[in-house]
Formats: sequence, C-alpha cells, structure tokens
Amino acid sequence: MAKHDIEITQAERDELIGRARKLAEKFAELGPAADEKNELPLELVPLYKESGLARLIVPKKYGGFGADLWTVALVEKELASYGDPAITLSFNMHHVMIGIFRDLLEEGARARLFKQVVENDALLSGPFSEERAGFSTIADTVAVPDGNGGWLVSGKKNWATFIEGADIVTFNATITDADGKVPEDYKKHAARESVFMVPMTAPGISIKRTWDTFSMRASGTQTCVFDKVPVPAEGFGGPFRTGLIGEMEWVTFPFAGVYLGIADRAYRLVRDSLAKKSLGHTVSGDNVMVRDVGHVQHQLGQALVELEMAERVVQGTAAIMTAGGDAAWGAAERPARLSIAKIAATEAAVKVTDIAMRLTGGGAIRRGGPLERAFRDARAGIYHPLSGDAVYELLGKSQLGVLG
Ligand SMILES: Cc1cc2nc3c(=O)[nH]c(=O)nc-3n(C[C@H](O)[C@H](O)[C@H](O)COP(=O)(O)OP(=O)(O)OC[C@H]3O[C@@H](n4cnc5c(N)ncnc54)[C@H](O)[C@@H]3O)c2cc1C
Repeated sequence: MAKHDIEITQAERDELIGRARKLAEKFAELGPAADEKNELPLELVPLYKESGLARLIVPKKYGGFGADLWTVALVEKELASYGDPAITLSFNMHHVMIGIFRDLLEEGARARLFKQVVENDALLSGPFSEERAGFSTIADTVAVPDGNGGWLVSGKKNWATFIEGADIVTFNATITDADGKVPEDYKKHAARESVFMVPMTAPGISIKRTWDTFSMRASGTQTCVFDKVPVPAEGFGGPFRTGLIGEMEWVTFPFAGVYLGIADRAYRLVRDSLAKKSLGHTVSGDNVMVRDVGHVQHQLGQALVELEMAERVVQGTAAIMTAGGDAAWGAAERPARLSIAKIAATEAAVKVTDIAMRLTGGGAIRRGGPLERAFRDARAGIYHPLSGDAVYELLGKSQLGVLG
C-alpha cells in the first residue's frame, strides 16, 4: 500500500464527519465561556474520547478508522465551523502527532503507541517550539543519557497546545554528551535533535498557565516544563528535523481543516444575517433589505470565492498526495509545496472573517459574538508551521537553485 492510498469508503468518511458534527454541538456550547476564561474546557476531553475521534487517523491495521489527509481536514473543518475554532485547534494537536507518527516511528514504538490510542483513547500533545526561535529553534531542551539506554530531559516548551488534556506528551530535545554538553557546532547540534514521548504522569513534568492571548484563547496553549524527566529507551521517536519534517502533510492538512472551518463559519454567519436583515426606513429609502444592496452582494460573493478557492486547493493537494504526485517535489522543498494548502486555508480565514466583519456592520465588533471570535481566532493561522514567509522563502530559494 502506498503512503497516501485511501483506506476508507465515502460512507465511512461521512460517518466520521457526522461524529464531528455531533461533538461540535458541545464545543459550541462551551466555546464562548472558554474564550472568556482563556482556557480549554477539560470536561470535553472524555466526550472527545467517547466520540472515537482519537482513532481518526490511526491506520485500520492498528484498529483505527484509517482516515486520509482530506478526511482529517474535513473533520477539523466541521468541528471548527459548527463547534468552536480554538477548542478544535487544541484537540487538533493530537491528530497532527498521530499523523506524523504513522510513518516516523519504528514498528515496535508505533504499535505500542497506537495500542494506547485504540484501547484507551489516549490523546497526545506536541510541544516543539521554544521561546528563543519558535518552531525553528534547534532544541535548547536537552536529553542527557542516563547510562541505562534512557535519558533525563530538561527544558521548557512555551507553545504547548492541549497539554492540560493530554495523556502523552511528544516533543523534541537535543541528546547531549554523557556529561550533559550540547555540541557547539550548529550542524552537529541539529543532528542530535530527536523526538521523544512520555506519559504526562512522568515525574518532573509541570504546566505553567501562561496562556493569555487575543486569539485562540480556548486552545489552552500553556507552557510545559521538563525538569529531569526520565525517558526510557522506548520513549525515543527518532530524529527530528529529517524525520518529522518529512511527515509535514500531517501538519498541513489538520491545520488547514481548522482554518477552512473558521472561514466557513464566518461565511455562514454573515450570509445568514444579511439574508434576513432589514434596515427599515433609512436615508436610502423605505424597508431597505441589506440583501438588495449591490456592494453587499458583491462582497459576499467575494467571500465565497475566497472560501472555495482555499477548499479546492486543500482538496486538490490531498488528491496530489494520494496520486503520489509529491514524488516530483524535491525533499527540501516538499514541506513548502505541501504548505501551499495550509497558506490557502489560513489566508482564507483572515480574508473571509474580515469581509464578514465589514458586511455584518458595527455590531460585529462587540465582544463575545461568534463572528468576533472567529475574526480573532483566524489571526493565529499565520504562525503555524510552515508560516507563509517560510514557504515563500523556501520556494524562492528552490526556484533560484540556492536551496541547500
Ligand atoms: C495558537 C498557537 C498554538 C501553538 N501551538 C503549538 C504547539 O502545540 N506546539 C508547537 O510546537 N508550537 C506551537 N505553536 C508555535 C508556532 O508553531 C510557532 O513556532 C510560534 O508561533 C513561534 O514562531 P514564529 O515564527 O511565530 O516566531 P519566531 O520564531 O519568534 O519568529 C520571529 C520572526 O523571525 C522569523 N523567523 C523565524 N524563524 C526564522 C528562521 N529560521 N530564519 C529566518 N527568520 C525566521 C519569523 O518569520 C518572524 O518574522 C503555536 C502557535 C500558536 C499561535
């Protein structure tokens, strides 16, 4: 079976989207208060597990649903559009990590991990970014060999989405010399960077509640601190930069789904409000219906074009992956080529929420409404890897023949 052969039927896909639509009702109910409190509602964790969606992209041979790239995007879109974008972003980290591990791990580690997900609905968090340089930091977090094949991990991850709900934390750290020294040479440092995973119950892990933002407030992206956390040999997940980056599609599509969902949510909200809004007697005439105003019609059409362009790029990129078309992309530019789908979705979320705010009218800026939240939440999309700037630079370099 090729890497992105589709192993689910259309009926199975529809059934998974149905599960998401049902769960979205709960997300929608708790979303406004979670945004106000700036925290992930942890009462949703057991409901997420009950929904079975923890198994969404675990391949069928391990007992999962075996969802493909396009299906994971559709499920995330449904949760973000009909439920809540920030809460969806939080649980989204689980799928990002499971997707990456489908091919990154060696068989023993993969079977052990997927067994926990299938049998116990174990959920994962994936804090990699660090304070110094975000996702591009060569990990300052260190894994010091313990002399028995394992490590003691110390460091700090200041972007730890879903960390409070997770059963397992996966992260990157630099394997040091026996005396705890990190290689001074940058390339040697990068070569030592590896992926690890441990249960959240491991001694030495603590969470600092540092999350206070204007966007994605309900995502619960806290700081995770490791203080000499013992990681056994089985917790080793392989090299980081060469390994994880090679699985970038499992970052691209789940994130793209969340932001398509934000665009879809904003679009539906503004369309439904404009279709029935009457202004009554105004300086323009009596009983002015907003839907009859030319510039409103024009901009609503523009919002739909933005949404559909993005959705078609995401779906089209998934089709390229299924057909193995990515074989034509060089390994170094592959993450950037893939991320075109993520950029399409995150930029559509920004554009559609912007149009929706303008068309809805001044009331849209009042705090706490679903559109106001969508507008704020859309702003976080530009930072997820790969960022637009990183993609443009990588592709520009590649085209000019100067990409390493
Ligand atoms: C809501 C939310 C949730 C998140 N959750 C997680 C998570 O769960 N796990 C996780 O690992 N991360 C997470 N992140 C972090 C995210 O992926 C980025 O790493 C983080 O935003 C910091 O990266 P940055 O590029 O924004 O900022 P910085 O890395 O500080 O970049 C600052 C500036 O430098 C530029 N720059 C960055 N790197 C380079 C480079 N190598 N060369 C040249 N210029 C560069 C950037 O373009 C930017 O202009 C989350 C982010 C958000 C917004």
